[in-house]
Amino acid sequence: MTEEQKPKAILFLDFDGTISRRDAVDAILETYADPKWLAFEAEWRAGRMGSRDCLRAQMALVRATRKQIDALLDEIGIDDDLVALLEMCAQHSIPAHIISDGFDYCIRRILSGASKRVAALLRGGRVCAGHLESRGHLWRTEFSFFHQTCGHGCATCKPAVMRLLNKTDAPAIFVGDGLSDRYAAESADLVFAKDGLASYCTENSIEHIPYQNLGDVAAHLDRWLAGRLFLREETLARVSA
Ligand SMILES: [Mg+2]
Ligand SMILES: [Zn+2]
Repeated sequence: MTEEQKPKAILFLDFDGTISRRDAVDAILETYADPKWLAFEAEWRAGRMGSRDCLRAQMALVRATRKQIDALLDEIGIDDDLVALLEMCAQHSIPAHIISDGFDYCIRRILSGASKRVAALLRGGRVCAGHLESRGHLWRTEFSFFHQTCGHGCATCKPAVMRLLNKTDAPAIFVGDGLSDRYAAESADLVFAKDGLASYCTENSIEHIPYQNLGDVAAHLDRWLAGRLFLREETLARVSA
């Protein structure tokens, strides 16, 4: 692949709390799970349990019909500036992918409530997440993205997915909001962080750009890319001189 074909960068977006306004899995657990889910949450937060085992155990405690879950998901909504961010990526030919430790079912449902433009802009990207399906009032999880668990015990291993999808080794940009993004933040070249992830990055001296909404990310990236493009043109000019 020549320098010209290689994308300037590749964007990886967390879903829950980053694209969606609220963490869908937390919303489901808070509303429909036996309170025992909190004990698993504490184990995961303390690093004593991987997210795959944690989510499997937590979702087994949920009792809700599909109708109830759908109604809950339909309340959540997405960041208003997702379109602006994806438009900006499209203009710069930057591939954008969603990588989530949550579930495909929730992502599909929440995105189906967004504008048609969102679906069109996401068409070229992948959605990597765990699988969730209803069986009456029970919910079954499956982690088919990677059959084997990674060393962290992730539901969906973000750094592994980032490596897989980034064949040309373009600079990896990651945008996230929570503790399930910690491994992704450690392996990305440019990190945008809010809430729990911002605190984690600060505590662990991981360089990051704090943000409030995806509009901030779009504006910052636009400037970053302009600088990067300028640098690359300079380098190419020097090479060919
Ligand atoms: Mg999140
Ligand atoms: Zn992992």
